[in-house]
Amino acid sequence: MPAPPTRSLVLTFEDARRVVEDHASRLAPGAQETADLLHAAGRILAEPIAADRDIPPFPRSTRDGYAVRSADLSKLPAKLAVMGEIKAGPLQAPSALNQGEAFSIMTGAPVPPGADSVVMVEYTSQHGDSVEIAKGIAPGENIVHQGAEAKHGSLLIGRGTRLDEAAIALAASVGKSRLQVSVRPRIAVLTTGDEIVELDAAPGPTQIRNSNSYSLAAQIQEAGGDPVLLPIAPDEPRRLRQLIEQGLQSDLLLMTGGVSMGRYDLVEQVLAEMQAEFFFTGAKIQPGRPVVFGRVDSCGAGTHARAGASAPAPYKYFFGLPGNPVSTMVTFELFARPMLEALAGMSPRQLSFLHARLKSGIRVKTGLKRFLPAILSGAYEESQVELVPWQGSGDIAARSRANCYIVIPPDREQILAAEWVAVMLR
Ligand code: AMP
Ligand code: MG
Repeated sequence: MPAPPTRSLVLTFEDARRVVEDHASRLAPGAQETADLLHAAGRILAEPIAADRDIPPFPRSTRDGYAVRSADLSKLPAKLAVMGEIKAGPLQAPSALNQGEAFSIMTGAPVPPGADSVVMVEYTSQHGDSVEIAKGIAPGENIVHQGAEAKHGSLLIGRGTRLDEAAIALAASVGKSRLQVSVRPRIAVLTTGDEIVELDAAPGPTQIRNSNSYSLAAQIQEAGGDPVLLPIAPDEPRRLRQLIEQGLQSDLLLMTGGVSMGRYDLVEQVLAEMQAEFFFTGAKIQPGRPVVFGRVDSCGAGTHARAGASAPAPYKYFFGLPGNPVSTMVTFELFARPMLEALAGMSPRQLSFLHARLKSGIRVKTGLKRFLPAILSGAYEESQVELVPWQGSGDIAARSRANCYIVIPPDREQILAAEWVAVMLR
């Protein structure tokens, strides 16, 4: 079997990631659908949502207490006449407050015209129709002015936002019980390898059950896509090509295995025969070095428009992810996720890492950026992180004991205990 005819294009992690982000940012928007707000969490908003009125719509008291004119409290204790009580949601707008007067007021109630602050009830004592106030106050205290949070018509949530609980609350606050979201992209998953068997088959002594299709399906769903699992491809070019062509009918094709330097690693060779364009055929990372990213002209690979999309995408993108299960998971996170998110209509976001103190020292070889399975532990502000002992990138059990990855830059050979290290969650 000849070696893959593709030119080796191994990039640094940052360069490879930049290439992916660059292509992701140029993808045309996909189709939209309507979702009920109750089932819209995690979906990507496909329409801008604006304030349908000022927020808050009236000057809002943030405390239970007394609405006053702060100038009336220049001499303490001050005694003011209580003109009435304003609770949240009064039927009529409160009447104006004059010098020497106060209104008893509740949290969330409209502050009457003329009042410029609200004294907390803790600093007051009411006797009949008057209240004694023991503490001065600055103008504006305990009031959120009308429109201070958002002006009528201003943008609250932009198109391309993933709807978290705060965005859902904001949409609810402007009465959007139904909203436009992006249709989930269909992501084909093609696992390769003669040794790989499906879960319902009894594996022979040297066969391996297909776990990558399932970890990828989980990651795809979590990232906002719909996985489409293809049959396992053997290490045989004709059938592999058939399945790749089938996979290219989806919005994105993820392949696993068959991208290393082995004699039966045929994925790149078959894609090259299909006139694929390769953006990289490796990244200086561990695990996941042989990761491949490219595209084929979709006219040459069976054009298939995304349902409802304005025009068929001119290219279909693919990733060849390394077959070792931890490499598959890591390379999905680092490279496939931004592409999937863009196809899902999400605005690009930068990859950022948290930092934690290293529990025990690490020694590695330089030259590769490493994403090593690790455990973040410790309570409150005392979090610490340590590597999970593992047998390399095939060790799914070790990965499942981990809850994050420690990120080690390529120039670091040794990191001492108690040093701060970058951590990638999940
Ligand atoms: P490859 O990248 O094809 O050289 O595969 C690297 C390693 O990953 C080999 O040990 C494969 O058996 C294993 N592997 C490949 N595909 C899968 C899969 N779908 N599920 C579990 N292990 C796999
Ligand atoms: Mg293989």
